[in-house]
Amino acid sequence: MANTECQVGGRFRRCRATPSHVCQYCARDFCDHHSYHVKGYEAVCTRKRCALKHDDLQRHMEYKAEVQGRNKSGQCGEPGCESLHPPGQCSLCRGFFCNAHLQDRSYPMHDGWVKVDKHVSICAWCWDRRKIWQRR
Ligand SMILES: [Zn+2]
Ligand SMILES: [Zn+2]
Ligand SMILES: [Zn+2]
Ligand SMILES: [Zn+2]
Repeated sequence: MANTECQVGGRFRRCRATPSHVCQYCARDFCDHHSYHVKGYEAVCTRKRCALKHDDLQRHMEYKAEVQGRNKSGQCGEPGCESLHPPGQCSLCRGFFCNAHLQDRSYPMHDGWVKVDKHVSICAWCWDRRKIWQRR
């Protein structure tokens, strides 16, 4: 059932405004005042975790574009790395990296409601992003 009040205000100062959006990350209803980013089908509330995810996604697109550009010219995806023809591929961003810039790790992923540790080859950037995405 739809909420009639914004769910994003502080715990002690609840926001009573009528919600006009649903956050795509935390699924809370929120009002215009608590909009961090609303555009087309996208709606992100001002909760810190959601705002972080939104910003991270923007940066990730730029990162992927940079890695792709470097891979096209035969270089490792890591900025500044001189290695040519990187042999390994990151399981998450699909970029190619040299052995020094790709780590074998066990990465916690959500498979439905179950959390499973998947064994992945992963670049430093993608490994770092998990801190933002493991939280809801
Ligand atoms: Zn949210
Ligand atoms: Zn509000
Ligand atoms: Zn990666
Ligand atoms: Zn490298």
